[in-house]
Amino acid sequence: MIEKASVVIIGGGVMGTSTAYHLAKLGCQDVVLVEKNQLASGSTSLSAGGIRLQFSLEANIRISMESLRTFERFAEEFEAEIDFRQHGYLFLATEPRDWAEFQANVAVQQRAGVPVRLLSPEEIGDMAPYLYLDDVVGGTFCPRDGYADPYSVTMGFARQARRLGVRICEETEALDIKVSEGKVRAVVTNEGEIATPVAVNVAGPWAAQVGRLAGLELPVQPYRRQVFVTAPFDELPKQIPMIIDFAPSFYFRREGASILMGMTDQEEPPSFNTNFDLEFLVEVAEKAAYRAPVLDRAGFMRGWGGLYTITPDDNPIIGRDIGGVEGFYCAVGFSGHGFMQSPAVGRILADLITSGQTNHDLSPFRLERFEAEEMIGEKRVV
Ligand SMILES: Cc1cc2nc3c(=O)[nH]c(=O)nc-3n(C[C@H](O)[C@H](O)[C@H](O)COP(=O)(O)OP(=O)(O)OC[C@H]3O[C@@H](n4cnc5c(N)ncnc54)[C@H](O)[C@@H]3O)c2cc1C
Repeated sequence: MIEKASVVIIGGGVMGTSTAYHLAKLGCQDVVLVEKNQLASGSTSLSAGGIRLQFSLEANIRISMESLRTFERFAEEFEAEIDFRQHGYLFLATEPRDWAEFQANVAVQQRAGVPVRLLSPEEIGDMAPYLYLDDVVGGTFCPRDGYADPYSVTMGFARQARRLGVRICEETEALDIKVSEGKVRAVVTNEGEIATPVAVNVAGPWAAQVGRLAGLELPVQPYRRQVFVTAPFDELPKQIPMIIDFAPSFYFRREGASILMGMTDQEEPPSFNTNFDLEFLVEVAEKAAYRAPVLDRAGFMRGWGGLYTITPDDNPIIGRDIGGVEGFYCAVGFSGHGFMQSPAVGRILADLITSGQTNHDLSPFRLERFEAEEMIGEKRVV
């Protein structure tokens, strides 16, 4: 039974374990992470594992650039194999409006140092001759983008965090956050009460519930996203980029010998539903066969549903003393980008907790933006 901690992290997904690791690395003692189920049992292990620098907002690009550097040296720093593949992300625009946005985004990305380039349909055809391109206006490609295994990344963070002294308590649920005189005092769990001045909400799709434990209403909601994997399929090259058909939010990439694909169901209401449904698989399979006609011959092997945690402007809420509650920190609402941004965001939270400062621009991620109607919004959402 743990009675006291300097920091209690609520949530053992990739964000929580990254935060735990970075706190311990900075020398923070007595850090406790509570996870109501098992590590990575939330959105993290259901993610498609995509990692990219191609965002519209500079603050997101900077967070992703720092995170990518960590993924690139993860195997060495964490002694963990994360199956990191840097085959690039190829975005396709079919709508003139999206193409105009892509061109504006690429200018911001290039200014930030991202090696991204605009591609004509002919250049896309040279790169990916298996795509149907008659309706494609143009695309963007960044060779440093890729994907990795989110479960292994989480376990890598967790192992190093434990080595550095973090106590990780699985099957331990935060049931209440005691706040008095505007300050966090304790986190109450099913295993007892932990006195602490700092509670960190990294509860993924359950972020709104954890916010309520501290008396706050956070504008984050869970939405199901489904992923499907084909049977082994050798009619596409062994190495293909992550391909994003932007308007329908359809994507596919290699998953070993198979092809992994997903799409956003625009009609999906918020819920905690994580079933996968066969009717939607038919829609996804049709979209796949349209964009890459050889996929018409692919058989399907499995699928699953997971939860995105979405805010009204598709940007997360990251910061300290959230809602004026001293000692309440959040990194929630990543709207489908939480895995790729976890290395830098964990470090940012650790910096905020230990020094009150960070070298990143967090202004687009303030909770207050919603009330002040100062939402900038991320446009490259998949
Ligand atoms: C289908 C799909 C595809 C995706 N693809 C990508 C992608 O390509 N790239 C990308 O970057 N992101 C992707 N994402 C998003 C990504 O998975 C999430 O942003 C990321 O995993 C969030 O991590 P997290 O640690 O914040 O949340 P989670 O992994 O959900 O972890 C939160 C944890 O908090 C625990 N918890 C909740 N409440 C409590 C409580 N009261 N007490 C204790 N513990 C609690 C939960 O059990 C859970 O384990 C995808 C998501 C889905 C569903």
